[in-house]
Amino acid sequence: LKAQKALIHSEQRYRAITDNLATGIAVVDANGCIQAVNPKITEWFGSTISGGVFVDDLFSLIRSAAPPVPQQSPPAGTGAAQSLLLAILSGATWETELPLKSLSGERTFRIVVCPVLDSEDMAGTSVLMLDDVTERRQAEQSLQRTRKLEAMGTLAGGIAHEINQPLNALQLYASGLEMMLEKHGSIEPDVLYKRLSWILREAGKIREIIAHMRAVVMQEETPHCGPVMVEEAVRSALGLVGAQLQSHGITLQLDFGRQVPVAYGNAVQLEQVVINLVVNAMHALDSVDIAEKTITIHTAAAPKGMAMLVVEDNGPGLNGLQERIFDPFFTTKETGSGMGLGLSIVHAFIETWGGSVHAGDRPPPERGARFVILLQPAGDCHAHNDNR
Ligand code: ADP
Repeated sequence: LKAQKALIHSEQRYRAITDNLATGIAVVDANGCIQAVNPKITEWFGSTISGGVFVDDLFSLIRSAAPPVPQQSPPAGTGAAQSLLLAILSGATWETELPLKSLSGERTFRIVVCPVLDSEDMAGTSVLMLDDVTERRQAEQSLQRTRKLEAMGTLAGGIAHEINQPLNALQLYASGLEMMLEKHGSIEPDVLYKRLSWILREAGKIREIIAHMRAVVMQEETPHCGPVMVEEAVRSALGLVGAQLQSHGITLQLDFGRQVPVAYGNAVQLEQVVINLVVNAMHALDSVDIAEKTITIHTAAAPKGMAMLVVEDNGPGLNGLQERIFDPFFTTKETGSGMGLGLSIVHAFIETWGGSVHAGDRPPPERGARFVILLQPAGDCHAHNDNR
């Protein structure tokens, strides 16, 4: 009798716990038949769900919402529901998220199923735990939307700011011409020619800003990607900017590794990446007064078959700005000389190839900035193409 009392007491205790949980609990037998539920399940789905009802009924919404026309894609969650049922019937552990029709409308539930082990008379029985994650998912979605809007706001603000300047100049030159015409009835051809060339130059600047923006924003327009030789891209980039380095009194140190894997990317864009990094390093070195200005470019094989490209200089370094330099329109250069888009383009390109770029200062006693780029091996091309 004492043992019985203790048993009743322990049962009451467990009942008190499960009754007050915010988690819904259902015990399901080997046939998928619901044996017991806690009050939360009844609160969500009504009393009909408990007592000998098949677990199928719990997911009935998903089945009834299945499209009558077979070629239509199944509603969200159908595959997940089937996997879950299969897990219940086979006594496996499973976790998934599903939309279910509750008494208060459709809600998203995180569902965990696990078999009851170590109990012979409950063989094949599983416990189903449901958590209502609707609000959490909604909050996450709205946060993501806010972030996107914020990024778009920054971008739009930046474009407006950048385009405003050439636009003002354009307007000024054009209205100048208009005034001259009004005053004198005609304009000297060479004056006209000069003013028109100014106007065209400003229009060209606007076009350039827009082209830059395209490269940053419209990543789906990325040209074809495939195997690229890092060393070749560096050499062709230097073919374009090498002469400038000399005239800026900068020494170039090249250190090409021997067995650098062929990387996955786009050769022309990788060239642009190198140009951007080298030109940035050159600008950084212009601002310091030291005897030996050096830019070092180094390639090597990295772990996991990746290719590494390092560009460093002995300039002023990043001054703690490494978190911000990849942001579109972030620049420390004077108005008109830097658009702050170079590194955001570098970042966007490398991201689309599945690689990474890291910026930091060289460890002391060295001075200057160091950019480390890791690129996926070309052998993994298919995986990346499929992901897009
Ligand atoms: P921009 O060159 O037009 O300013 P970027 O996106 O290329 O735009 O660079 C953003 C900022 O990052 C620069 O204004 C500069 O402050 C910093 N930066 C980039 N490269 C270096 C470098 N090698 N050394 C020091 N600062 C750098």
